Amino acid sequence: MKNFNKMNKVRVRFAPSPTGPLHIGGVRTALYNYLFAKKNGGEMLLRIEDTDQTRFVPGAEKYIIEAFHWLNIPFDEGVHIGGPFAPYKQSERKDLYWKYAKMLIDNGNAYYAFDTPEALDEMRKSCEANKQTFIYNSITRKTLNNALNLSAEEVQQKLDSGSHFVIRFKMPENKTIEMHDIIRGQVTVNTDTLDDKVLFKSDGMPTYHLANIVDDHLMEISHVIRGEEWLPSMPLHIMLYEAFGWEAPQFAHLPLLLRPDGNGKLSKRDGDRLGFPVFPLRWVDPKTGETARGYREDDYFPEAFINMLALLGWNDGTEQEIFPMEELIEKFSLERVGKSGAKFNVEKAKWFNHKYLQQKDNAEIAKSLMLTLHENGVEADAQYVEKVVAVMKERVNFTHEIWTECRYMFQRPESYDPQSVKKRWKEDTPQVMENIVQLLTDISNWKNQTVHDALMNYIQEHELSVGQVMNSLRILMVGSSSGPDLTTMMDLFGKEETIERIKIGTQSIVNL
Ligand code: GLU
Repeated sequence: MKNFNKMNKVRVRFAPSPTGPLHIGGVRTALYNYLFAKKNGGEMLLRIEDTDQTRFVPGAEKYIIEAFHWLNIPFDEGVHIGGPFAPYKQSERKDLYWKYAKMLIDNGNAYYAFDTPEALDEMRKSCEANKQTFIYNSITRKTLNNALNLSAEEVQQKLDSGSHFVIRFKMPENKTIEMHDIIRGQVTVNTDTLDDKVLFKSDGMPTYHLANIVDDHLMEISHVIRGEEWLPSMPLHIMLYEAFGWEAPQFAHLPLLLRPDGNGKLSKRDGDRLGFPVFPLRWVDPKTGETARGYREDDYFPEAFINMLALLGWNDGTEQEIFPMEELIEKFSLERVGKSGAKFNVEKAKWFNHKYLQQKDNAEIAKSLMLTLHENGVEADAQYVEKVVAVMKERVNFTHEIWTECRYMFQRPESYDPQSVKKRWKEDTPQVMENIVQLLTDISNWKNQTVHDALMNYIQEHELSVGQVMNSLRILMVGSSSGPDLTTMMDLFGKEETIERIKIGTQSIVNL
């Protein structure tokens, strides 16, 4: 037996069940575990909890690993990298759990229950008929088909004859359990409100509760940081540690991620309905082929996604919102995680991406934008794309939007917004444009400033309206009244292209 220093070594785990893609709530749980571990010089492991074979979904484990790879959240040990406590997948540890279930039988904290599923179903139904709920607990167990009501011989006989059985935890009667949760403080529960949970199933597999406690103990976990939905399991878990005579880890139950309107837990359906992903990566359901959107495919930077998630339930006590990973690690503390649910806000998520886009290196953004352009049949010069990025990134939230929202930076307009034309285009505009083409042709030093000065001089000399001329030019460059500073854009396009756009556009509008 290893003699480890559990008291001072921080070891945490992220323990998903492979029942589908990883919900962003799960990602946040993993992130908080990671931040806490790194802040405290500890370790984090990835354990796959697949004891419920009926809920197993092929591809889910691979998805989980890929998600953390994208997020750049490394584990110290885990199902994908091994480690001193391998295997890290519960189905591969199957043979280990029986011994522990037996230990609890032997010390009187658990018992064999022989009730058939049909018998329990009957019981449930008859309770329902009387508007009651059936609970297998310290009262009902006295009259049910279990080892507590049978002699040792009878129990042995049933086991020998291969009768169906499960092992249940024997919840003590009327005992007050005092527990401490790092986020919630003192939690008190009376055992009479709890049932005798199944620890070991008839299929030879442990349930989540048994496997989870055994593994957390064997893997020397010091802190269990998980979602609020596991808070009701905490008393049982504490009782299990007590029953084994093991020191329990510390617990921290994180607040729920709520729908944008605050009404209930954020679900996949809310994402579909309101048009945002609730999963880190795109997911294709292996059975139905149905797909669900992912933050990666929606073009979020993993750093922005992480920063957004970190603040859904935690803050450092100031107004600061932008935290690079290093700073999150430095500032994170479980004590500053809130108790109440955190509302998800997709506009805020986009805002974070926008902020990170501004900080990114233009060449890097240009590289990824080139891929989008290529996919859309546009071949552009890398240097040009980088210059476009520098001008356009402050106007968009995502890299791809420099293409989707600003096509005019790469292609001539295909049409001219009628409303803008109506507002800006006057009878004499074609003539003015012809003169401007002449004027621009004569510019030898093509730069933002020189183009700007030439246009202004012309406008002044001919006593024209600045707004009208500049906006007409804008329509010819962009196809509408939007876009960045006009002469910055003309500078980027270059003389030839600018003049072409004026000529082609004027012709098209005249022919309308
Ligand atoms: N396997 C559980 C889940 O899927 C883990 C709960 C825990 O962290 O104890 O969320």
